[in-house]
Amino acid sequence: MAEDLDSFDIAVQQLEKAAKVMNLDKEALEILRAPQQILEVSLPVRMDNGKVKTFRGFRVHYNNARGPVKGGIRFHPEETLSTVKALSAWMTWKTAVVDIPMGGAKGGIICNPKEMSPSELERLSRAYVRAIADFIGPEIDVPAPDVYTTPQIMAWMMDEYETIVRRSAPGVITGKPLTLGGSQGRGDATAKGGMYVLKVGAKKKGIDLSKATVAVQGFGNAGQFAMTLVKEHFGSKVVAISDTKGGIYSEKGLDFDAVLKHKQKTGTVQGLEGTKNITNEELLELGVDVLIPAAIENQITSKNADKIKAKIILELANGPTTPEADEILFKRGVLDLPDFLANAGGVTTSYFEWVQNIGGYYWTREEVYEKLDKKMTTAAEDVLATADKYKVNPRTGAYIISVKRVADAMKARGWY
Ligand code: GLU
Repeated sequence: MAEDLDSFDIAVQQLEKAAKVMNLDKEALEILRAPQQILEVSLPVRMDNGKVKTFRGFRVHYNNARGPVKGGIRFHPEETLSTVKALSAWMTWKTAVVDIPMGGAKGGIICNPKEMSPSELERLSRAYVRAIADFIGPEIDVPAPDVYTTPQIMAWMMDEYETIVRRSAPGVITGKPLTLGGSQGRGDATAKGGMYVLKVGAKKKGIDLSKATVAVQGFGNAGQFAMTLVKEHFGSKVVAISDTKGGIYSEKGLDFDAVLKHKQKTGTVQGLEGTKNITNEELLELGVDVLIPAAIENQITSKNADKIKAKIILELANGPTTPEADEILFKRGVLDLPDFLANAGGVTTSYFEWVQNIGGYYWTREEVYEKLDKKMTTAAEDVLATADKYKVNPRTGAYIISVKRVADAMKARGWY
């Protein structure tokens, strides 16, 4: 039978696996198997050529037992409701694993931002907020950036929301530019948080990160910062990086500035002088110590899991590994640090941004990093200890912690 790659099916399978191990109450599981609310919207936008194009968008609230729901907005041509539902579930487990008082949500618009002008993107962003304005708010649902959305897009969305509600409401959205109440340290927060998790994982595996080689899949926000931060934090050597068009490899290590310059000039990382072109598939199977998937879902599957040579996988992307691949990796002794732990630095710093917006008092970059380090290190240690205790992989260990926290909150509210 072909492997099931439907994201929401995968999210439910993962939850059920953990529920079984932890002996979760049946009524709690029933609630947690589905999102609380789904909003699907139609967005007519005037394009630069004068014609109107109608886009479809989604916003899903998965669970708000622990607080206002939280999660990014993706602009992607292949966006589906199933993916947004899965991502909203993963946000619920993500906010819970780092123990911040928020629930999980996600949004998405089916569009190709690479083919849109800045003014078309602005009109689309504002149309989306007009359509979902009643569904979001600092005490209801707080969106943020994700795949192909940026601080500028967050700024337009905040402005549109404030225009609708006719008051200042910076806490309605996070990942904003600093000038509009963004937080210090939010820009590189996802990758930065990943570094604290990687440090805990490497210690467990007995790997000296200063001598480690690293391959990074993806050249978006998480991938770019991961490439610079592994070097800065540990002195590791990044030997491969990729974007949607393919990757490059250099045994000697890659220089971030050179890669960025080449990408800006040619539109891809491929073809950089002194490096070898490789495919995204080849990148995943390289003989490196640490593999960092930082792109999109379903990259490590039953087809390639037995060919992965890395000793540690740091999942900065959401959903890069399928349940079948999980089993294979675990049996082979690969330490896979799961997405909703590994990339929780983004939402944790978003939470710090929201706290600063509500309090109207702003922290220094050092304060943010220090708080982030504490949150991420504690969460990573808890996850690995729980996984050992139950003899399961770190993903299921993380689920056990998160599901218990959400279930406890639901129980205290009298939902079951
Ligand atoms: N989009 C990021 C994630 O998947 C950040 C979400 C947020 O900051 O709310 O975790």
